[in-house]
Amino acid sequence: MLKNLRWIIVLCCLSSAAGALVIQADTNLWQAFWQHYQHEIELASVLVAALVVALMAYLWRSNRLLSELTDLNRDAQTSLELTAAVFNSQVGLIVTDEHACIQRANPAMTSILGYTEPELKQQFTLILRGAGVLHGTIRRLWQEVQTAGRWQGELLCRHKDGLDVPCMVTIAKVQNGAIGLSGFVGSFTDMSVQQKAQDEIRQLAYFDPLTQLPNRRMFIEALRTTMRQALHNGILAGVMFIDLDHFKNLNDAHGHTVGDQLLCRIAERLLLLLEPNDMVARLGGDEFVVMLPHLDTSEDLAMTQAMAKAEQVHQILRQPFELETQNRIGLHAMTLRYTCSGSIGVALFGLVDEPLTEVLKRADVAMYQSKQDGRNLIRRYDPAAQQALTARMAMSNELNLALRDRQLKLLYQLQVDAQNQAVGAECLMRWHHPLRGMVSPVEFIPLAEESGAIVAMGDWVVQSACELLARWSDQVQLSHLTLSVNVSPRQFAEADFVERITAMLASTGANPRLLRLEVTEGIVMQDTQEVVAKMRQLCALGLSFSIDDFGTGYSSLSYIQSLPLAELKIDKAFVNDIATGDRSEAIVKAIVSLGQSMGITIVAEGVETLAQKDRLLTLGCTLLQGYLISRPIKGDALEALVLAQHSTTVQKSLLV
Ligand code: C2E
Ligand code: CA
Ligand code: CA
Repeated sequence: MLKNLRWIIVLCCLSSAAGALVIQADTNLWQAFWQHYQHEIELASVLVAALVVALMAYLWRSNRLLSELTDLNRDAQTSLELTAAVFNSQVGLIVTDEHACIQRANPAMTSILGYTEPELKQQFTLILRGAGVLHGTIRRLWQEVQTAGRWQGELLCRHKDGLDVPCMVTIAKVQNGAIGLSGFVGSFTDMSVQQKAQDEIRQLAYFDPLTQLPNRRMFIEALRTTMRQALHNGILAGVMFIDLDHFKNLNDAHGHTVGDQLLCRIAERLLLLLEPNDMVARLGGDEFVVMLPHLDTSEDLAMTQAMAKAEQVHQILRQPFELETQNRIGLHAMTLRYTCSGSIGVALFGLVDEPLTEVLKRADVAMYQSKQDGRNLIRRYDPAAQQALTARMAMSNELNLALRDRQLKLLYQLQVDAQNQAVGAECLMRWHHPLRGMVSPVEFIPLAEESGAIVAMGDWVVQSACELLARWSDQVQLSHLTLSVNVSPRQFAEADFVERITAMLASTGANPRLLRLEVTEGIVMQDTQEVVAKMRQLCALGLSFSIDDFGTGYSSLSYIQSLPLAELKIDKAFVNDIATGDRSEAIVKAIVSLGQSMGITIVAEGVETLAQKDRLLTLGCTLLQGYLISRPIKGDALEALVLAQHSTTVQKSLLV
């Protein structure tokens, strides 16, 4: 059409020019003839030219109008296509009138919220509001749209089936210049997938995957908030640390899956016990924590409330658990009835603004106190206990340096046979503290066991004993003496315990048959294959084992048969009242007969009087150890004692 117009214009121009030329030519040729009409001809030429110019102007203008119209048409087309594209996008869109009544909705709204356009049309936007969304939120939203022209945020929207869908929502005011407000446009993006991913991340970061309870991180955050609120509201809150007793034994004896089952059951029971605002979390391993955010304002009452709750926790832990386990060969599933117990520490907070670590420390001190007092107990925070703990910690730190600074010493306590002949000695550790003087092993061994320092210290004892044995090996009067070394549970549990002992024997050249390891009933009672295997490996090297403090532990005699034992040491407690107490005598008799039946040496320790010695020998004890024979003494003193005994014996034998 446009092209045709151009041609028409060109033709008109050409024809008018031709017309003008013809008129001009004709005028020259027929000048004489037309001379009479010259004036009219000129007038006609001007008129024709004016007409041509007018026609051209008209055509040019029409052409411009036409091209403008075409451009407008193209824009409208593009705009329509754009609108359609936007309306068909994945983002849900609604257009409302100025009363928030929906006029249009795109197909994406159906996939996001389940409604079709006809279902939404003429409905107020209220229909899209999620169940959990508060009136206040909606009010603030519309206020912002009115004032700022736009609101954007996450909102729970209601799906047609009734469920809430998390959406990113934008609402914009549409303003029409001429008539003012004409309506609103809302866009909805489904955030379910992102929300799910976020939830998963949160679950991993803040919850314990085994029990699904909040983990340490979440507990710490909750505690921080509760501390702030308690301080602000002037109320007290409580926290309760729960540590299962001997959980490791269950794991060792029945495997981790059984241990895991117990942790899950405990989590379930704790959850049932709690009030809506309380919180239970698993801090890790066998440690749980309960937080009680709403206690009384009076300290006494608040503590009574917290202790009552702790008592309930204590009770539910002690009710037997039924755990699925497998028999040793792993063939049959069996139900294990397990009774567990926990040590609980309770502390309050909220009265003062204090660091979070202080609250944790108090609950920890209380829990630790409960363990110290014998486990399976509830203890409230006691400042005196904290002082004791601080002192213990200071001592523990010093103990780490004791070995390095050569503050540890070894004493030896002689063991003799029925004929009073020296057969060996027990190595007993001492700590010569620079300020406190001699510290008893009763005080520092448990600390070293706890901190792990006992491993290096125990190595040092074994090394020293091996060196002494090697030194004695070429002295006739001393070369037969055995040395007994106390081995702590932690030391024995070291994965390379056997290798370390082997290496020390090799490096010193000591005779393994003269080295005896004293272990407690606690270690051997675990009766795990690992313990027995370690003992057998060491026995194969020539070493022997003794059970220390026999009779005070679990006293299950059946396990003794499965262990490679050379010696049982009757505990001092029985020796103490052997001459007076019937019960002790009966126990000693039983131990002696057990030992005799199994070919095991019986040592009585803590022998202080001649009466005790006589009675023990009458009952059949093989060896004796105690103050009556010798106190623990230094190595050179022991050598001198044995040599002196030897020469006395020689002299006596010469006299006979
Ligand atoms: P234990 O192994 O039962 O050692 C015997 C304890 O009884 C020693 O106390 C010894 O001095 C004491 N004793 C010996 N005869 C008598 C007596 O006639 N009357 C009285 N009242 N006591 C007597 P000690 O040396 O204070 O050691 C205490 C505990 O410390 C030991 O008990 C042992 O369990 C531990 N211990 C000592 N040295 C070591 C060590 O090198 N390693 C480890 N792991 N523990 C050690
Ligand atoms: Ca001992
Ligand atoms: Ca002992």
